[in-house]
Amino acid sequence: MYWGGGPKVQRFEQAFADLLGKKHCFFHSSGSSALITALFATECGPRRPVVIGSSGFVAAINAVYHNRARPVFLATDPQTLQATDVGYEQVEDQPAALVLTHFLGNLVDVPRIASAVAADRVIEDAGQAHGARLDGVLAGSMSDIGSFAGSHKKLVTAGQGGSNVTDDAVLHARMRMVGHHGKASRSVGEVPGYNFRGGEMEAVLAFHAMQRLDERVAARQSTASAVETVLGEAGVTVARTLGPRAQPAWFDVALILPEEWRSHRDWLVRALKAENVPVATYPSLIEMPWVKPWMRAEGWWSDREEDLLTAERDLWGRVVVLGAQLTPQDGARCATVITDLLTGQR
Ligand SMILES: *Cc1c(COP(=O)(O)O)cnc(C)c1O
Repeated sequence: MYWGGGPKVQRFEQAFADLLGKKHCFFHSSGSSALITALFATECGPRRPVVIGSSGFVAAINAVYHNRARPVFLATDPQTLQATDVGYEQVEDQPAALVLTHFLGNLVDVPRIASAVAADRVIEDAGQAHGARLDGVLAGSMSDIGSFAGSHKKLVTAGQGGSNVTDDAVLHARMRMVGHHGKASRSVGEVPGYNFRGGEMEAVLAFHAMQRLDERVAARQSTASAVETVLGEAGVTVARTLGPRAQPAWFDVALILPEEWRSHRDWLVRALKAENVPVATYPSLIEMPWVKPWMRAEGWWSDREEDLLTAERDLWGRVVVLGAQLTPQDGARCATVITDLLTGQR
């Protein structure tokens, strides 16, 4: 039972695959390990291009590094804060994979970017977007592999966990192999793998969290709209969706600060934390301090990357996010503190 997942893991995997309308699900120990096996399954390493949005959670770029692939970053749309194919130029080699994150529980335009990039495989990081929909289709089900995280703040939380779904039996087998010490059978390690299997207790938590997904998405949506109402009345810009096509499952509400606040953003975050407002900042993925030295050493850093780094820093340096894991009342209270600080009333 242990090696193939115990009965509780198998029950969750079946239920989660059914929810997403997919044939297979592999329950992992974390969202990060799920992204690593997903990329491994695409055979992107070593050194093959993986096109990846610079908008996302750090686990996605970490997974590219650990698969020894070459990242090719996509810019972030300044209104939605999601990856965009605008400005994307094809590199010489055919991309092995495209990795797109539905960041902050908002929706990235997977079909559009997938057709522009034409990578061999598409992976969606839906770690913050369980239950979100684009054109009526669930996040994580519009690509070759949908990858989900399951830590405490996620919508289908397992305490710690992660899940990959796919229709492709070969991708599924490769994910399981690398996440199970590299073993395709009971004894032989085919590749240097890991133990990334999710546990029984975590699967029980995930299974029960999943039963309440609709309720939890609705709760986050109502908190997000309570926050947006207060911010909107004060003229604060928040990240937009792709319009009527998108039904987000807001993980965070992102504020895009006016230009004059740029150099005061970190002060604002400290002031808000002092008022117990749960805000955070996210550098974009190309900004991670180890990325440029690594890509330079590999010969993958050109003027294009330098320009993108400048533009992404510029944009994400004006972003502050407020977690949507609050009641609508608390969300509105937090938004009032934010607007009071921005308008000098506090
Ligand atoms: C949380 C998260 C992850 C990583 O999950 P862990 O379980 O923390 O490893 C990956 N992607 C996104 C979008 C996430 O929010």
